[in-house]
Amino acid sequence: MIISIVSGKGGVGKTTITANLGLALADIGKDVLIVDVDIEMPNLSLILGMKEIEGRAHATLHDVLRGEAELEDAIVGREMGKSQVLVLPASLALEKLKHVREDRLKEVFLAIPDFAEFVLVDSAPGLGKSALAAICYSNQIILVATPEIAAISDNLRTMEVARRVNAGIKGFVLNRYQRETAIVNAEEMETLFSASCLGVIFEDKRIGACTASGRPFILEYPSIEASLTLRKIAAMLAGMSSEEERESEKASALGRLLSLFRR
Ligand code: ADP
Ligand code: MG
Repeated sequence: MIISIVSGKGGVGKTTITANLGLALADIGKDVLIVDVDIEMPNLSLILGMKEIEGRAHATLHDVLRGEAELEDAIVGREMGKSQVLVLPASLALEKLKHVREDRLKEVFLAIPDFAEFVLVDSAPGLGKSALAAICYSNQIILVATPEIAAISDNLRTMEVARRVNAGIKGFVLNRYQRETAIVNAEEMETLFSASCLGVIFEDKRIGACTASGRPFILEYPSIEASLTLRKIAAMLAGMSSEEERESEKASALGRLLSLFRR
């Protein structure tokens, strides 16, 4: 299942939430692949502290989109805390932007579900090709919303597009929330976006510090409210998958039964 973390505006916490939610899912035993499709402003590898990507020796999504690497060569296994995740990083090198064919993203989206049960995609802001690919080719999208006017306006556009293409809208995470300065609360946002609030993460200096040091906050501060919120969302997503699993098991059991009668 592909779940893309999207937003109209940059700097709202997409990458932070994708990385930490991926680790929360891995922590409850799920197979997870975290993908960076923010081709122009990639920073998932920084948030995950993947120094080897800065070294440029490793293949990345950019190399795949340039036709210079296979997808499986660009996906790396990573030990994070007690869990293991797969990561498809994007390149930090500016020159790798040259000859990138974004139309190849469709093939990437079609192929990535083979690598893990949960594929979490860190999307680009705006409505460019990679943001649209994430909205169109995912099973579910989670919007990251922040309570300020420009971000709300941009997110309304993102949601409008998502609805037009019939995307599976799981809901939104209200991030960087501060009671004193927020112009809307979670409930009002539910009305604005006609979507449900999956969780609220407050503005927290420790989160910014973790980004700067490349140590995901869910590992560094497992018991802060933000970590609890993401673990709750991960449990909800995991439940969704086991429900689907049960459905498909039921379907295949029924298929086996019917085939017995058809013999
Ligand atoms: P995006 O991917 O949407 O551009 P990032 O995840 O890169 O956003 O986050 C942008 C900056 O905001 C980072 O420095 C990150 O540490 C910080 N940030 C994200 N969420 C919070 C939060 N809840 N509290 C404080 N800082 C945050
Ligand atoms: Mg980002």
